[in-house]
Amino acid sequence: MRGILFRYGDLLPLTKATPRLSLCEGQTPLIPLTNLGSDLAVDLCVKFEGANPTGSFKDRGMVLAVAKAIEGGAKAVVCASTGNTSAAAAAYAARANLPCFVLLPSGKVARGKLAQALIYGARVISVRGNFDRALDLARKASEELGLAIVNSVNPYRLLGQQSAAWEICDELGEAPDRLVIPVGNAGNISAYWAGFNRYRELGRTRDLPQMIGVQAAGASPLVEGHPFDEPETVATAIRIGRPVNAEKAKEAVRESGGRFLAVSDEEILAAQRLLASREGIFAEPASCASLAGLLRLHREEGLPEGIRIVAVLTGNGLKDPDAALNQVPEMVEIDDRWESLREVLAR
Ligand SMILES: *Cc1c(COP(=O)(O)O)cnc(C)c1O
Repeated sequence: MRGILFRYGDLLPLTKATPRLSLCEGQTPLIPLTNLGSDLAVDLCVKFEGANPTGSFKDRGMVLAVAKAIEGGAKAVVCASTGNTSAAAAAYAARANLPCFVLLPSGKVARGKLAQALIYGARVISVRGNFDRALDLARKASEELGLAIVNSVNPYRLLGQQSAAWEICDELGEAPDRLVIPVGNAGNISAYWAGFNRYRELGRTRDLPQMIGVQAAGASPLVEGHPFDEPETVATAIRIGRPVNAEKAKEAVRESGGRFLAVSDEEILAAQRLLASREGIFAEPASCASLAGLLRLHREEGLPEGIRIVAVLTGNGLKDPDAALNQVPEMVEIDDRWESLREVLAR
């Protein structure tokens, strides 16, 4: 069987009683960006987390969180979500035969993600408020009703997410020089940092990467140094004003000698088009914040030639078709005659 609990079981807190849940998550491709890498004169790869079973990295932590919830006797799981956490929670809960309740900020969830939560059979509740408020409510439901909360406040989520760092090191034989990653609730950057450190302690790698955390300008509490009460960005997966894992993420950036930076929605969307049109890779807007951040760093301070950089593409572009369709030209429509087609092709 493939999957995180099988491949990295020796590094995870599994017991005999932990069900070996799997949707064959993980082992996602590390794709060299041959065109953009040579433009920037660096050795650039992307970790394409959109290849996970529900289309985002959230599967890595969710498989462990749900397995542990079952081990602990939970009767149902609950989460608040900007979309991808709910898709993953709903899928693994379905697999494990557990009811799943998801709280989504009204009108701010990409359509693909909403479709996923619903088709996997979760009870979806739309909250008239932002993600941070939905999370407060999910925590309350967990405390009052004993539902297992599977947001990244659940420590098993971040443990499972370390597996992405391990895969990168296993494939490269070493940690990269820099890791560039989008930051919303700041769990994933913390998990990668813990994962790289774990591998170094085990003697599987020698060095640690510099951690570069990229936020959307309209939701950039870690860059600006204060919470955002009304976070706003086209990158809905990182539209978070009060990151739960802020302290851990700051530590990762400080200890690694890295930095946080913010990019505008225009930069994020331009990076999305660039990645698709120059490399054939379609990632959702939040994911493209990592590439946008890298381009900005290259512009503003330059990048040492030839260094090895891994940018994390956290989620699949198909999750948010509207974000893509809103920025591309309309298609050409013709009648069904050859002459009409010939005329269009000759333009
Ligand atoms: C969840 C998510 C993020 C943000 O990860 P955090 O751990 O909240 O910082 C970024 N991109 C995508 C696609 C996500 O689903």
